[in-house]
Amino acid sequence: MASRRIDDLDPVLAYAFGKAEAEWRIKFPELSQPFLTCTYRSKEEQTALYNQPFDKKDNDGDGKVDEADEKVTNAKAGQSAHNYQPRLAFDVAFKKKNGQADWNTELFTLFSKLVLQTAGITWGGHFKSLKDAPHFERTGWEKLVKK
Ligand SMILES: [Zn+2]
Repeated sequence: MASRRIDDLDPVLAYAFGKAEAEWRIKFPELSQPFLTCTYRSKEEQTALYNQPFDKKDNDGDGKVDEADEKVTNAKAGQSAHNYQPRLAFDVAFKKKNGQADWNTELFTLFSKLVLQTAGITWGGHFKSLKDAPHFERTGWEKLVKK
């Protein structure tokens, strides 16, 4: 089962998210507010996500199956920082005052500036191959995994 609990997170990530979220509330009370959507993802869930572009399902609910835009990750099971203990990545989303999701990309860019004030974090919006704006992870997380 996927988790969105902040107490599952690596302490550096928990600190960075909490600090950025608090600053956001103070600086941008009128904007959509950030929240955690994922900290932990099981290997089965990672595989399902990886398979989205070729699983014969309509994963984004637009009535079409297996389109290019259903590709949301390059990571197979065990290749994502979400798959380990402690959780070495988190994903965020934004909620409007009426509770609707807000996918305005500028929100993610603005939030990344607050999160990246904490050292040792890489933002998915800076990934070279497949940009992942909701995603933040510990830089060099592969070395932090407890095996
Ligand atoms: Zn992620």
